[in-house]
Amino acid sequence: MKRSANALVRPEIAALHAYHVPDASGFIKLDAMENPYSLPEPLRAELGNLLAEVAINRYPDPAGGGVKEALREAFNIPPEAALLLGNGSDEIITLITQALAQPGATLLALEPSFVMYRMNALFSGLTYVGVPLRPDFTLDLPATLEAIAVHQPAVVFVAYPNNPTGPRFGRDEVLRILEAAPGLVVVDEAYQAFASDSLMNLAGQHENLIVMRTLSKIGLAGLRLGYAAGTPAWIGEIDKVRPPYNVNVLTLAAARFALAHREVFDAQAHTLCAERTRLAEALAAFAGVTVFPSEANFVTCRVPDAPALFAHLKASGILIKSLHGAHPLLTHCLRFTVGAPHENDAVLAALATYFC
Ligand code: PMP
Repeated sequence: MKRSANALVRPEIAALHAYHVPDASGFIKLDAMENPYSLPEPLRAELGNLLAEVAINRYPDPAGGGVKEALREAFNIPPEAALLLGNGSDEIITLITQALAQPGATLLALEPSFVMYRMNALFSGLTYVGVPLRPDFTLDLPATLEAIAVHQPAVVFVAYPNNPTGPRFGRDEVLRILEAAPGLVVVDEAYQAFASDSLMNLAGQHENLIVMRTLSKIGLAGLRLGYAAGTPAWIGEIDKVRPPYNVNVLTLAAARFALAHREVFDAQAHTLCAERTRLAEALAAFAGVTVFPSEANFVTCRVPDAPALFAHLKASGILIKSLHGAHPLLTHCLRFTVGAPHENDAVLAALATYFC
């Protein structure tokens, strides 16, 4: 007798639903921390010509085809750090958990944080330990250090700044975690372009640190390129589970091109930070709204009735992310990706009709 797919996969996988991405067609799309700007016209044509020349009949250069060198130069990555490229930083999370998976290994993360830490622990069979943040989404350092001492995690993930909440934890707090952790600490700097601090200067120096970043949030989410910097020893181990050609030739070529024109993305990030302030201030002015300080390209807030406001925005043609129900600490929370000024104007107008 044949056994069904659902009976053959592990029960914890059978119990899951696939990652759901809502259909955003026709909406002002502010649900996924994308940069709202596309590439300016002259660069777009130039990139098109460049991609036409790429040898798509050949496998990509497993060493990254010059992208690692371009990243080092663009982002001041210390020379002693080794680099690994991933198909988005999502893939790097997967590679790290795969490399560390063995009976009894634990992945520790803060909660609420990026869900893929917990999901990858489940996919790879690591024990997952989540340490709650404080209700204002600051780090509960004593509880975190205590959990590290008790569970001795193989890996700790810290998003710096944190998604879906917005605040960046204290640098000193993350350094304390780094000191206390017996295993690897991954500092996930997906939102670094919008933040006031980074631990990249310690990559390759602190023996158990990997700093992970992505090009997604600065305007290249469709390329799927993430990177991790750490000691040659750690990056060497993670590299062993990397599929040989994980980053495709078109992505490598487009990433080299984008990094050579970095000033375009820097200027967009600058505009988005100013827009983040405008959006946060406007939200905070409405009765009953608590805005959490953000160092990312989104603003998370708690409102009196999240499902009602989410539905109102949707009816107004605006798609944001409702965090309500995702975690007890996120009750009645909504996350607004910062859009272009005209998109944020539409959000503010829709908020005004709801609250006033
Ligand atoms: N880390 C964090 C904290 C994120 O919020 C995200 C995307 N939402 C990622 C990693 C994954 O980004 P990507 O795979 O696009 O590089």
